[in-house]
Amino acid sequence: MLVKALDILLDRLKIAGVDFSKVAALSGTAQQHGSVYWQKGAYEKLQSLQPNRFLHDQLRNAFSLADSPTWQDSSTRMQCQELENVVGGPQKLAEITGSRAYERFTGPQIMNMYQTKRAVYNNTERISLISSFACSLFLGNYAPIDYADASGMNLMDLQTKEWSPEILQAVAPDVEAKLGTPVPSYTNIGPVSKFYVERFGFNPECRVIAFTGDNPASLIGMCLKKDDIAVSLGTSDTLFLCLSQPKVILDGHILSSPVDKDAYMVLLCFKNGSLTRERIRDTCAEGSWKLFNELLNSTPRGDFGNMGLYYDTQEIIPFVKGDYRRNKANVEVPRFSGKEIEVRAVVEGQFLAKRAHAEDLGFTLSKNTRILATGGASNNLDILQVLADVFNSSVYTLEASNSAMLGAAYQAKYGLMHQDISFADMTQNLPAPRLACTPSKDATEIYTPMVERYRAFIKTITNQG
Ligand code: ADP
Repeated sequence: MLVKALDILLDRLKIAGVDFSKVAALSGTAQQHGSVYWQKGAYEKLQSLQPNRFLHDQLRNAFSLADSPTWQDSSTRMQCQELENVVGGPQKLAEITGSRAYERFTGPQIMNMYQTKRAVYNNTERISLISSFACSLFLGNYAPIDYADASGMNLMDLQTKEWSPEILQAVAPDVEAKLGTPVPSYTNIGPVSKFYVERFGFNPECRVIAFTGDNPASLIGMCLKKDDIAVSLGTSDTLFLCLSQPKVILDGHILSSPVDKDAYMVLLCFKNGSLTRERIRDTCAEGSWKLFNELLNSTPRGDFGNMGLYYDTQEIIPFVKGDYRRNKANVEVPRFSGKEIEVRAVVEGQFLAKRAHAEDLGFTLSKNTRILATGGASNNLDILQVLADVFNSSVYTLEASNSAMLGAAYQAKYGLMHQDISFADMTQNLPAPRLACTPSKDATEIYTPMVERYRAFIKTITNQG
């Protein structure tokens, strides 16, 4: 399906009149955590693609597994446990690879394949992530996995950027040869395959730059700087930031930075994002964002001393579920006295959590901090004002819908130029994000103590649970 999609895409671009001979370099991005299994003999097929035939037709028998696992596969609980046990627990695995064991990560997936589909594993000569798989199609050769996507596998040592021998040994025999050697994300790997030159008129000099996962590519597309925090307010809320040193965290992911092989990025996912805000909108504001905003603005910052935390589904950070409300006297109450209080409480509670957890990772808010907001709720300026106030930082909005694809395009250019120019210099003339909100004067005074109160609140809830 993926190969056929590429055939269709390139044909459509050609029909639309794209002049491929002008492309100096290309890169790409794909959903993280999916893996592709090339069967023995596939290398020859990749090397001898015929320009007069479709790719999907020529690669029909190139895979040892027809249905590749994607990020939605969660069948590997047992293997996760085994991997954590081998290295000495979840904390230790997070210390080595940047994350505790996750079902969707490729290490547990490969381990599962070795244990349950031994013949398929033995018939596999190469394992790609979806990103390096797509890259291989352009290269006509097996493309290496890049550091950023490799850090979503539970296999790579984040410090050395090599596969961890201890983990590989636990996963399956001979797995290193099947994975190849990981490379920095902006590596200029080689020229585009002859297939694209002859079939689509690509320049034979066009370079292929390593492909990466969708989250690292989004970070590239947003041009996230050291003092920035990207907050995506979608179905779930996610938070990205850059770190110069890796931290050990159990509730999020540390990945190698796609633009600086010696730096890191953090990815935190808060499952209860827009859908929880929607629930409160529906119960308190007749399903209308307009009314929701009116109620929000009818209450003062700090919500009269009330605080509410709402988790419709099991939250990841912190690990809790249910609704929790405390009044001004810090006493737990079953409900608040007004709908407007509930509305402000859900928004403040969600943003206090993001600030507390970002600070726990070592992020220090400063006058240079910028919040880059994306996702559906970033259209809502009244919600963004609360974000600006809780972080005491200006909030900017980005055209988010294609930030990962945009990131892949920037990476193609950076792959050609990184020896001569920094990523920041290369992107300095791009249009700046749009200023949406600035913090109110009393923001620090109100919200800094509330962050502490949030931490104490969470402690009591998790202890109760
Ligand atoms: P996804 O994570 O699925 O890509 P989006 O980023 O498209 O999601 O965000 C979708 C969410 O945006 C919806 O659940 C909706 O609640 C929220 N949303 C859309 N418009 C508004 C608005 N004006 N105010 C608050 N939330 C909004």
